[in-house]
Amino acid sequence: MAHVVVVGAGPAGLMAAERLAPTCRVTVVDHMASAGRKLLVAGRGGLNLTHTEPLDRFLDRYGPARALLEPAVRAFTPGDLRDWSAGLGQPTFVGTSDRVFPESFRATALLAAWLEQLEQLKVQLRFGLRWTGWGGTGPVFATPDGPTTEIAADATVLALGGGSWARTGSDGTWVDTFAAAGIEVEPLRPSNCGFTVAWTPYFVERHAGDPLKNVQLTFGDRTARGEAMLTDEGIEGNAVYALSAALRDSLDAGESTVLVVDLRPDLTVEALTDRLAARRPKESTSKWLRRAAGLPPVAVSLLREAQPDLPDDPAAMAALVRACPVALTGVQPVDRAISTAGGIAFAEVDDQFMLRARPGTFVAGEMLDWEAPTGGYLLQATFSTAVAVADGVRRWLDRN
Ligand SMILES: Cc1cc2nc3c(=O)[nH]c(=O)nc-3n(C[C@H](O)[C@H](O)[C@H](O)COP(=O)(O)OP(=O)(O)OC[C@H]3O[C@@H](n4cnc5c(N)ncnc54)[C@H](O)[C@@H]3O)c2cc1C
Repeated sequence: MAHVVVVGAGPAGLMAAERLAPTCRVTVVDHMASAGRKLLVAGRGGLNLTHTEPLDRFLDRYGPARALLEPAVRAFTPGDLRDWSAGLGQPTFVGTSDRVFPESFRATALLAAWLEQLEQLKVQLRFGLRWTGWGGTGPVFATPDGPTTEIAADATVLALGGGSWARTGSDGTWVDTFAAAGIEVEPLRPSNCGFTVAWTPYFVERHAGDPLKNVQLTFGDRTARGEAMLTDEGIEGNAVYALSAALRDSLDAGESTVLVVDLRPDLTVEALTDRLAARRPKESTSKWLRRAAGLPPVAVSLLREAQPDLPDDPAAMAALVRACPVALTGVQPVDRAISTAGGIAFAEVDDQFMLRARPGTFVAGEMLDWEAPTGGYLLQATFSTAVAVADGVRRWLDRN
């Protein structure tokens, strides 16, 4: 029976292992002490496995990588992913904005059931071994006490993840190994990330940690509705993540980058102007904005950050409430991002995600060069590429 070594015990590696186990002897190796650490972190606020929107729209979320991921996502669809989860005793439900979650909501029960299934399939898991490159008979690993060890393999799957949340194990150090082997890797950059803003000390003291609820953010021709979180360093949260690729690219290009926050997206400027026109005598600006425009204190302070001398004219104030500029000064570090852009260039792999320069080595998951917004698109592509890789490995083993 052929032996396949899967490096990386995240969702991509475990899915490839599960798919290969019925026909191959499979060993999964990870440098951490347990499996699926980032998956567990991802599940903390609810594990958004995938999304129910029509597949064509779903695929558009991958932007320029759509064409490269499409065959894999069509072969293992969001529906297949939900069936798979249900097969592990973790049925899914459709939550807000058509996002799909396991009924147990977090990742803990799903991962436990999955690891039990892998044990039944006789997949061997080995921990504490760091992949450092290729040897004569298989992948090479650094051991905790120093020397390297090589594990003989008929095929290897690398599923080493991106470069955010390094403490979960996905530290992106594989990039240097690939570069040394002459394999093109696009630099890992933050994706679904926050941004820095030069808030005043007053604002930080009063509002760091406050959410801006039900706002609409605009950058260029893109908009996103939802929540933004104000931090002592800047701004993050779901609505910000949705625009983060464009914002990051603009900042990286050295352009002045201004995020426009609509604090009352459900009111027209005219309706807001009418409300603001009824200002009471001697009413302070804060009270006026809170009463007439229904703004919370954090929104009033945000307006003051943008324009310390707030207008008294109702129409000018309404315009500012609907389009409050927030100048971004930088991108927050990759380690704090939900995911990473960049990774192994698609030109380096064939249509089964096998490295052209290293026949017999396949790559899956976030280490490939694609990015997507939050909403379940990250895990779906991770799982779909892993399924495609397992098919590719089987075909490759049959041929060799
Ligand atoms: C806070 C947070 C919330 C998220 N929420 C969601 C969500 O709700 N929905 C969604 O779709 N996505 C979400 N994601 C993203 C999602 O978790 C990742 O896209 C996904 O885990 C990628 O899977 P992967 O298997 O490719 O890599 P990873 O899960 O990163 O796994 C890679 C594995 O490789 C191991 N490894 C790395 N280098 C080596 C080495 N040299 N030797 C040996 N082992 C190594 C690591 O230890 C790790 O176990 C979230 C991420 C974060 C950080």
